[in-house]
Parts: sequence; structure tokens; C-alpha cells
Amino acid sequence: MLEAAATLYTPAMLDIRAIRQQFPILSREVNGQPLVYLDSAASSQKPLAVIEGQREYLAHHHANIHRSAHHLAARATRDFEGAREKIGLHLGAAHSKEIIFTSGTTDAINLVAQTWGRVNLDAGDVVLVPRDAHHAALVPWQMIAENCDAIVEPIEIELQGERAGQIDRAAFTRQLQDLKPKLVVLGHVSNALGTIHPVEELCLEARNAGATTLVDGAQALPHLPIDVQKIGCDFYAVSAHKAYGPTGIGALYGRADVLDAMPPWRGGGEMIKSVSFEGTTFGELPFKFEAGTPHISGAIGFGLALDWLNKIGLQNAQTHEEALTSRATKQLLQIDGLRILGPATGTQKASVISFVIQPENAPAIHPADLATLLDNQGIAARTGHHCTEPLMAALGLAETGGTIRISFAVYNSFEEVDRAIEALKRAVNMLL
Ligand code: PMP
Repeated sequence: MLEAAATLYTPAMLDIRAIRQQFPILSREVNGQPLVYLDSAASSQKPLAVIEGQREYLAHHHANIHRSAHHLAARATRDFEGAREKIGLHLGAAHSKEIIFTSGTTDAINLVAQTWGRVNLDAGDVVLVPRDAHHAALVPWQMIAENCDAIVEPIEIELQGERAGQIDRAAFTRQLQDLKPKLVVLGHVSNALGTIHPVEELCLEARNAGATTLVDGAQALPHLPIDVQKIGCDFYAVSAHKAYGPTGIGALYGRADVLDAMPPWRGGGEMIKSVSFEGTTFGELPFKFEAGTPHISGAIGFGLALDWLNKIGLQNAQTHEEALTSRATKQLLQIDGLRILGPATGTQKASVISFVIQPENAPAIHPADLATLLDNQGIAARTGHHCTEPLMAALGLAETGGTIRISFAVYNSFEEVDRAIEALKRAVNMLL
């Protein structure tokens, strides 16, 4: 099996063995078995370029940024601002001042809710959020809506058929016309089902209906080219750790005119122009949204992760991940009673496979039981509601433990797919 799989490194593309060697964690064992890490949608592993780059900064170049004239401060500032430039370029922003460092996607969306939301939402205003949204894209709006009596409504997702996992477009169009939402929140890629949503079309439709738009790009960053100007969104949120970078750092893209019109959120050093007890004035973009000492090494690591990803090539990574997903899908569908949720395969899907197993004449297998048996064999898979409880409820899975989710990154191999499927079959047999 392993030999056969090795011949499948097709597209004139990537040397997966060489890529894997750049990820020290991938050569460790778990429970006495070589690790097969299939949980990259939760957090990707980190290449040496990021690990060593952060270490280099911390060991030799650290100082606080923006404040002092000394050598180290100047260098740290240059590296930190250099990372902002890289992120801006990667996301297609018009200017790096449109990139606000945050601790991640969750923090970025909370920033928008607490600043834009606080001044723009009034009683009765509608915020549309997709039913498959990650809780990070929903709960901040519920919290702010409670303060101002705004209304948060779901954008419905098709649950069955060819368009399973996709937005119900007719219903979306009707909602835009009938509810005239102030804000439309969209997810670029669903972490629960892997659906790639057509955010460019959806944003255009939302904008034409007069809405401000925010796209949760957490799952898109490691897989898709992103061009915020082409997408036409007002806000786009990402986390570095989903895309080979460090945890605790992410970014909010906001169009400059929209960010300029927003009040700051957190107050403190770095974000001010001048302070007195009579009154304080705030700094320019992007600093007015970055109070306090930021995660400097994290930002630098974020930039290095994007460098690394761009060196691999997003297109190459995507081709490989699609091949992994399609190989896994074919084998999974041969397992008795296994049902994949959302788009089965094809272009509208990122490398995420969510499934449940209910063999004929047997009760459904609890995802958590399967995950434990997989873990015993060194396979890291995710189970549960994947922070998308409203979606799981609509799918009728809220009470049955959600789904099992496997997700691939560019460092996964065909051998790992085969090992995981064999391990899954063994686990299912043990539970029957
Ligand atoms: N949105 C999506 C689609 C996600 O997958 C995640 C992470 N699971 C988040 C938002 C939140 O990201 P973070 O925890 O890095 O803030």
C-alpha cells in the first residue's frame, strides 16, 4: 500500500517528503505509532522556517517596537512592520495600514463588533450570519446585538443534494431585499464542511443591497489565494496558526475609509496621538486599533509563514490537497454506513472531510469513540460540533456528537491517507 501510494506524487509539483522534513513534529510518535496529523483545520503544524525565525528574533533581535531610537528597537520595528506589509500584499490590500494585527480571527471579529458595531447598529438593525459560521463569527454579533437591540438572523445553508453545504442563494437574495441588513457576515471556507463559498458574488450582492460585509477568512488563508479588493469586502479576518504560522496572532483587513470612520476599541499605549487629562486624541491607522505591546515575534512568524507558503506555491499546495481529499473521499465512501456531510468533493471544497458513520442495522457510531480509537493508532482527527453548533443542529447532529472531521495540509502524504483509512476501518470494526 505504501509503495503504491508513493507513486502518486503526481503534479510536477511538490516533494512531500522534503516538505515533511521541515516539520519536526511530523516525525514524532503518538501512542507508539507514527503521528498522522489530520487536524490542520483546527491548527496547522509549523515549519522550521517559522520556528527558527521566531527563535532568531527572540534570541538576537528583540526589543519593544515603535518607541525607542536604539538599534534593536529600530530593527524589531522594521521586522514587525515588514510582516504587516507581507500580510497586506498576501491579502491584496491597497495599503498595509489596512492591516490591523489582532490575536486571531476571533479577536479581529470582536474588534469589528465592538467598534463598527457599537456605532453603526441600532435597535431593529439586522446582521446576517451564515448558519455554518464558526461561533467566532456569530457570538460577537449576538453580544453586541443584545446591547443595542439589533437582530441576528441566519443565512440558510442547503443541507442536502448537489448543493449541500452551500448558501441557499434564493433565500439569501430574499433576505437582502426584505430585511435590508446593515451587516452581512460571510465565511470564505467552512471549517465544519469544507465548503468554499463564492464570497466575491455574495459580497457584491450584499453591497448592492446596502450592507457592510465582513468575511471570516480563517480557513481560506492556508488554501486559497485571497484578494480582498476583488472580493470587495469591507473586512476580512485571518489567523496565522491556520496557515503554518504561530498561535496568538492574526489580522483584520479593513478598507481604509471604513477603518478611519471607526472609533478605537482598546485604549492604551501605541494607539494615541496625545494624552492629557483634558482629553486624548488617537493615532492614525493602523495604530489606533493596536493598543499595547503586540505579539512581535508572532507577527514576524506570521510573515515568515506566508513567505514559506508562497515559496511552496498556493496552487501547488491546493493541487496536492485536492488529491489527498479525493483519495480519502473515495476510500471513505466504501465504508458501510459512512456519510460525508456538505460537498462530497470537487472545486467548491477545501481539504476538509466531515462524516458520520451509521452502519446498516446498527446504531450510529459516536464520533468521540471513533476518535479515541484513532488516537490510539496515532491518528489525530477532530470530532464534535467544530464550533458550529447551529449548523450541527440543522443537520440533526447536535445530540449525537457532531461529526468526525479530517483535514489536510500540504505536508500530508498519500501514505497517511491510507493509514488513516485502515485505522478507521479497524476502529469501526471494534465498535460494531
Ligand atoms: N473562523 C473559522 C472558520 C475557524 O475555523 C476558526 C478556528 N477554528 C475561527 C474562526 C477562530 O479562529 P481563532 O481561534 O484563531 O481566532
